[in-house]
Amino acid sequence: MSRLTQLLTTLISNFSGLRTFWRNENHSESPLATQILSAISDGILVTDINLRIVEVNHAFTRITGYTYDEAISKTPGLLSSGRHGKEFYQRMWDLLHQSGQWQGTIWNRRKNGEVYPQWLSISHLKDKSGTITHYLAVFSDLSQRNSVQNQIHLLAYYDTLTGLPNRELFSDRLKLSLSQSYRDKSKVALFFLDLDGFKIINDTLGHATGDLLLSAVAYRLSNRLRESDTVARLGGDEFTVILSDIHNQSQVKEVAEKILNCFQSTYIIGKRELYINTSIGISLYPDHGNDSETLISHADTAMYQAKQRGKNCYVIYTPDMGIQYKRRITIENDLRAAIADNRFTLVYQPQVEIESGKISSLEALVRWEQPDIGKIKPDDFLSIAEESGLIIELERWILNTACTQTVSWREKFGLDICISVNISNLHLSTGRLAEYVQDLLYNTRLPPSALEIEIAECALMDQRRETIETLVKIKRLGIQIVIDNFGIGYSSLNHIKRFSINSLKMDKSIIGELGNEDDGKQLVKTIINMAHNLSLTVSAQGIENPEQLHYLKMYGCDVAQGFHLFKPVSAEKTIALLLSHTPWIESNENHQTINIDSSLTME
Ligand code: C2E
Ligand code: MG
Repeated sequence: MSRLTQLLTTLISNFSGLRTFWRNENHSESPLATQILSAISDGILVTDINLRIVEVNHAFTRITGYTYDEAISKTPGLLSSGRHGKEFYQRMWDLLHQSGQWQGTIWNRRKNGEVYPQWLSISHLKDKSGTITHYLAVFSDLSQRNSVQNQIHLLAYYDTLTGLPNRELFSDRLKLSLSQSYRDKSKVALFFLDLDGFKIINDTLGHATGDLLLSAVAYRLSNRLRESDTVARLGGDEFTVILSDIHNQSQVKEVAEKILNCFQSTYIIGKRELYINTSIGISLYPDHGNDSETLISHADTAMYQAKQRGKNCYVIYTPDMGIQYKRRITIENDLRAAIADNRFTLVYQPQVEIESGKISSLEALVRWEQPDIGKIKPDDFLSIAEESGLIIELERWILNTACTQTVSWREKFGLDICISVNISNLHLSTGRLAEYVQDLLYNTRLPPSALEIEIAECALMDQRRETIETLVKIKRLGIQIVIDNFGIGYSSLNHIKRFSINSLKMDKSIIGELGNEDDGKQLVKTIINMAHNLSLTVSAQGIENPEQLHYLKMYGCDVAQGFHLFKPVSAEKTIALLLSHTPWIESNENHQTINIDSSLTME
């Protein structure tokens, strides 16, 4: 209860009857009451039990435009803006009756028709026997631009980008909902939403577009849900929804479907049509926890599961998820320790010139084996390394090890071999990669032309200054840039030209279609022709059978990589392989069956 409401309530209850306090029967005013009422800058409105207005002060008239005579005997409906539905008022009265007070922002209408926000606090007044006799409303005009308090309130509790409640207000509302549900013996559902692929849109189309998209999402969410549900933005692309008064899980599922549906149609941002989905994690009070922290953490865990299950879906928390979540945290901690202790290894997978059968380069691929867990797949730990930022340190180690190793092979055995290293988007955008590589090349004496970096297609669309500068600097150093897993992302020809990319590496899913589908063959043929027309070399990865290699040669693909040719092998086996390999151009062998020692083909 605000201090002003408290003071007024105390004052009023100390007088024998409200009307005699405010005004006596023949309208002669009590001097004390008059002074108090005039001195208060907040609007005051008192109704009887039937909600008929029995008293207002000067500030009421100043804020609403209604005089004393115009307001008296009317109901507060006089001030209604029509912006709040029945449910809103129902919930307000429910809370008022349960706790004796309601506070919040409400939109009302002045006499001149202007709709404005006010901060309203309502409490009930009781007589000596405890019977409610009056309602007291104290309000301040939040639309006054100069009201510092108003500004502070908005800044402190509302997200400036979307206008939704922020983390603070969300936290307050969640606590309030929990205590109300405890009294009602009902449930509360907490939804944790994380937009799918928002980072790519933000990185590639720019932060201004990202911001507009977030505002549009916020608008859609708050319009599709009930007024009594709280939609909040916690930051970034994370939103939460609090549903109160839940009695069964089907209510929760219905709302989850409703939210997913609200992402089905596209967003028009500027001249672009954008499409975005969300993954939702849900926890329930009291089933999954009794306090906000536990419920938030469980909803987050469930959201992570939704991402794992392919995104664009909702998942309700179950206790076994906690175990998987803990596993993720364990991997992150183990990763940290493994980086500090140098516990990674590299394997190398040869890439072969299709025309000659010569091994032109090696792709360095990282491996991690934990004594207790065993081998952990790169796809499983690299995403965690990227999310936690550890990837930069790890990739520095990979670059260092791979370059040092390549120099020693080149110098010791006179081999003209290049090395390919995969680089994450995070490293490109924040890791001072160009400076690190420049020093590395200087220290190891590896010629820049012997180093290739493989980057994801979406990195080309990244409009951040850091990424663009890094790519330009890398190119200036004379390092080759390869677009990895080409054909499954969004890059445009414009971007490929802009950064003078050297090579496109077709994704294995595209190569997998070769031999099955005419469409698949057409796609590969088109990519190869397009790359050549742009003066780029083109390579194919994931070649698993002679037929695929046959088509790639027929269509003029330059470089081949895959288990059919060579599997990734350790550094020791790589050198043996390099020294024993005879290019098919020299051996007169059919290039579709490369005979190499099978021990060398195993990882
Ligand atoms: P990628 O860069 O596309 O690497 C090729 C992946 O395909 C490797 O899996 C390789 O073992 C696998 N591969 C090669 N030939 C074939 C084939 O014929 N059939 C099939 N099914 N797979 C084949 P790996 O080593 O598990 O790496 C998976 C991904 O992890 C890599 O995809 C890359 O994105 C990432 N990665 C691996 N090592 C590194 C690294 O050192 N740094 C970074 N940033 N990422 C890495
Ligand atoms: Mg690669």
